[in-house]
Amino acid sequence: MRTKKFFLAMFFCNLFFSYAYCAAGAGEEIKIGIILNADSFTAANVSEFYITDSAGKKLKLTKGKVRLSYDGKTISAGGKYSLSLPVEIRGGNNIIFADKKAYRGYITVRAYGKKINVINVLSIEDYTKGVLPKEASASWNMEALKAQAVISRTYTLANLNKHSSQGFDLCSTTHCQVYGGAQEEALSCNTAVVYTKGEVLTYGGKLAQTVFHANCAGHTEDPKYVWGWKDSPAYLSGIKCKYCAGSPHSRWETALDEDFITKKLESAGYKTGSVKSVKIKGKTKAGSAKEIEIKSANGTIVMNAYKFRLAVDAWKIKSVTFESIKKRDGKFVFKGKGWGHKVGLCQWGAKGMGDAGKSYKQILEYYYPKTKLEKTEYK
Ligand SMILES: [Zn+2]
Repeated sequence: MRTKKFFLAMFFCNLFFSYAYCAAGAGEEIKIGIILNADSFTAANVSEFYITDSAGKKLKLTKGKVRLSYDGKTISAGGKYSLSLPVEIRGGNNIIFADKKAYRGYITVRAYGKKINVINVLSIEDYTKGVLPKEASASWNMEALKAQAVISRTYTLANLNKHSSQGFDLCSTTHCQVYGGAQEEALSCNTAVVYTKGEVLTYGGKLAQTVFHANCAGHTEDPKYVWGWKDSPAYLSGIKCKYCAGSPHSRWETALDEDFITKKLESAGYKTGSVKSVKIKGKTKAGSAKEIEIKSANGTIVMNAYKFRLAVDAWKIKSVTFESIKKRDGKFVFKGKGWGHKVGLCQWGAKGMGDAGKSYKQILEYYYPKTKLEKTEYK
């Protein structure tokens, strides 16, 4: 009996055991740069809102909007009130609008050189609600959305100081994570965030690198072939993915002019001259091209396949898992599978797993094997 219980306990521990994870320095609040290097912006709300400046001056606006303009020295509200930076603006209902977009939490305005940065301060959980619909599709199943919420929160906590020199943590573009504020939240995504509150992926006691992509077409990639990582973590070394076949982008074809490829490579700094042939050189375990050999008027160059894709056109050449590269009527015809760099979680695969009844824990364990799901203890 004892043995049976012990085995059951072992089984669940191995599946995923939730520990408390103390994220170093992570408070519950995060600062997001939403309007950068600006001269002015408009703050607004549907109910009352308050502007407080660093000298303690307080303005109460019952509702409506006010334009804040900066001339490099002083900031004024509505052309009437001069204020001292930094300035804090809060809505009475925990919502504040900046340039017609709604945000949870509040905003601060800070000088940055001769310009201002508008920063949204809110809880990491509320921030994740504003990120999820931009990183995943709100219409996907709940388990795929929960997996994506954990991925996003893990990235957030691992990158808290990315923009500290500018007075905030993360920006709201693809440079960090695309963030749409309360304006773009979706009920399904908010539910996924609430269900997974505080949960992050760790490996060896540190936050995992939760890289993801659209569609791996059967096997995820080791980042050493993509970004030349020297010590790829074991959980990113690549897995066989059974769940994304048949999804959009699993097969694609694009024909590019010889001249187009030549121009793109030259503007990326490769002095190829007129490109005569493009060949795959070596394949990874995931079936992608390791390198590309280009023959041209200037001789032969061999380059990393992923760099080739970025240099030529990452939208047209959706991946470097080429089935063939052939020359036809002065064009190179690329036939390939999947979409993206293929490292980490495959989003269409995660959707497929959720549709097949798998849980978000199973999804995360599948794409990031041997990582742990832990609950963050915010300070
Ligand atoms: Zn896949």
